[in-house]
Amino acid sequence: MNITIIGGGYVGLVSAVCFADMGHFVTCIENNPKKHTLLQSKEVPFFEPELSEKLSHVCNADRLTIAPGFTDNDFNADVIILAVGTPMSDSGEADLTYLFNAVKDIIATAKGADFERVVLTTKSTVPVGTGRKINAMIQEAQLSDKILVASNPEFLREGSAVYDFFHPDRIIIGTDSTTVFETFKQLYKGLHKDTRPIVHVSLETAELSKYAANTFLATKISFINELAILCDQLGADIKQTAKLMGLDGRIGKYFLNPSPGYGGSCFPKDTHALQSIGKHQDVHLNVVSAAISANDHQIHYCISQLKTLLHGTVADKTVTILGTSFKPNTDDIRESASLKLIDALLSDGANIQFTDPKAIDNTMALYGSKVTPFSSSYNAAENSDAIVLMTEWNAFRSLDLPRLKRVMNQANFIDFRLIYSHDELSSAGFNSYILGKGHHRVPQNVSSLN
Ligand code: NAD
Repeated sequence: MNITIIGGGYVGLVSAVCFADMGHFVTCIENNPKKHTLLQSKEVPFFEPELSEKLSHVCNADRLTIAPGFTDNDFNADVIILAVGTPMSDSGEADLTYLFNAVKDIIATAKGADFERVVLTTKSTVPVGTGRKINAMIQEAQLSDKILVASNPEFLREGSAVYDFFHPDRIIIGTDSTTVFETFKQLYKGLHKDTRPIVHVSLETAELSKYAANTFLATKISFINELAILCDQLGADIKQTAKLMGLDGRIGKYFLNPSPGYGGSCFPKDTHALQSIGKHQDVHLNVVSAAISANDHQIHYCISQLKTLLHGTVADKTVTILGTSFKPNTDDIRESASLKLIDALLSDGANIQFTDPKAIDNTMALYGSKVTPFSSSYNAAENSDAIVLMTEWNAFRSLDLPRLKRVMNQANFIDFRLIYSHDELSSAGFNSYILGKGHHRVPQNVSSLN
């Protein structure tokens, strides 16, 4: 089949490359000139495992074309997929500027184009009712016989996006038309099996299902994070508690890892967007609101624990941050808890040294000379007063703790990802705080290097 995808970001490019890998002929439109130039030279503008090799492969096989803008040729496609960003606006609602600009562009181009029929689908996460609004715009332009609207929400995760594309738990198609649903069955032929059902629902249900899934996962994270704070007070162990909860098949083991809070380009904006969708319908989503406020509180709690370990203040202290991406295996720092930590530490007068396996460039683009990057944890720890483990990259899982301690000014280790135990940190001579693992521990022989 022929597919046009609008937007060459995490979702658009991964979808474009994977659909082309499945044998379809794909045009991926990216209107950011810098990203477009990179893509044309077969370079991925961000880090995503497996994507680079696959991009070269499908471009060399002439199954993927990169274009800077939408043209009437794109009406040769069977399906046009909208994969542009829908960021959070100041009010918390999804900002649909990119999406509606793309739709207007398509409608304007369609007026002078000669084509029979095309399916136009959102893959971007959009508020319930957006598909109907697109439909109304198409009706007003008297194109409803030729452009058929659908919703096909995307569930891939950054860091494993290529794998997720090929192994979806479900493929959701929102449309009023059985013919359109058949088009999607062809599109995903070879991918959907009994274990990966393709499900036909209404536009509204498809749109809501994406927000429902993301918000539920965010709620699970906020729940375990609040329990981690409680564990600190009770002396209970959050890691063991989470494991025991996860062994219950009704609960499941995923999304129960305590952390300094969820981040990334999806959970924060999607929880707020669902809250706004509820408000518009006069339905107060109490659980969603609680998940959001627990997440907002989580980083403040973590910062307070860091300050406690540093005897009340971080002013003029050097703090080493391990990990700025919002999770491992991505260079995406959007809404990362590390950024909130950096902002708070900078405003309190701390010096920041950091390292991240993939996100150094993005972090430097945001902070410039306000922070100092290092390519290794050991260099980043030099003359530091505290290490804060923020992202659970593999590179931070087996650190040589005595070597780290030797280069530091004060031996304080704060683990917000529960990679290390108090015992191993203490044996290496560190004062430590581990989220949800009870009280601060000071080693018997060393209280501080000062
Ligand atoms: P992104 O910001 O990485 O990519 C969007 C791209 O679209 C940008 O490169 C931008 O330049 C481009 N663009 C905007 N308007 C355009 C236009 N008119 N023509 C061509 N290109 C245009 O965003 P993303 O992370 O890929 O997310 C896209 C959507 O998918 C969002 O709604 C998001 O919520 C949803 N989503 C994201 C993920 C994820 O993990 N990132 C997962 C599932 C769903």
